[in-house]
Amino acid sequence: MTCNSPKTYVVSGGATGIGAAVKHKLLTRGDKVIVIDIKDADIQADLSSIDGRQHALESIQRLAPEGLDGLVPCAGLGPHVKPVEWISRVNFFGSVSLIQNLRPLLEKRKGCVVAISSNSASLPGYHPEYVNTLLALNETEACRLVSSLDGQSAYGGSKYALAVWMRKQAPGYMRSGVRMNAVAPGITRSAMTDGVFQDPVWGDAIRQFNEMTPCGDMATPDMIADTILFLLDPASRFVCGSILFVDGGTDALLRPQSF
Ligand code: NAD
Repeated sequence: MTCNSPKTYVVSGGATGIGAAVKHKLLTRGDKVIVIDIKDADIQADLSSIDGRQHALESIQRLAPEGLDGLVPCAGLGPHVKPVEWISRVNFFGSVSLIQNLRPLLEKRKGCVVAISSNSASLPGYHPEYVNTLLALNETEACRLVSSLDGQSAYGGSKYALAVWMRKQAPGYMRSGVRMNAVAPGITRSAMTDGVFQDPVWGDAIRQFNEMTPCGDMATPDMIADTILFLLDPASRFVCGSILFVDGGTDALLRPQSF
């Protein structure tokens, strides 16, 4: 295979928003993209359920037996979604399940993983026991604990745990040829964000958060996708286990001494 041969990527949540922007950019340059989503996808699967994940994984094995050049587990649910267990199931367990189970296919092609965290992962207030249970990969217990939390704690905790899980695993994955990083987007125009802006509980909070963005406005999905493509590209070949904030400066504003 030459450098210019088409590559094969899996993008979950590729029906809309950031995932769709990633899909379009990869397709435009001639790569093959397998989209997993609950709607409008090559593989229609509900990543909140064990059966849905299994269906997705078996379908990918069939569609890309030669291996994968990259995986972007982008499917996610916002803090306004109820019941809040779905947030943990899709954002954390859906993503981790794809990464773990697709590792052999990624190893075949020395592929890259870009996980999708969030700049809200670093906000104070997440529930440590919930995060520890996520990191222990105990889905039943995590769902029990999260059911008594509010949507932002569920969401921020799921995205924080995903970033920590990625950093803990990245060195071992790298040694087997799979380079893994994450992006932490700030507020980005998408169906999810529309839902949060319209939510009676979280609408005001996201408006205030948005107003403090140093860049002055929310991101477009394209802006986040460009960074994801950089992390999939050999141009970033020495970047490993990093969390790249793509948030117009909000994290730097709020946490200048943490990095
Ligand atoms: P979006 O709603 O446009 O996209 C999410 C996608 O996930 C949709 O296509 C949806 O159908 C899919 N999905 C939802 N539940 C699913 C399930 N059970 N099984 C399979 N697919 C499912 O939102 P987006 O903003 O593009 O979000 C993409 C990712 O970026 C999410 O992980 C989100 O948490 C993260 N993120 C978004 C923002 C933001 O402000 N929009 C900020 C930080 C992080």
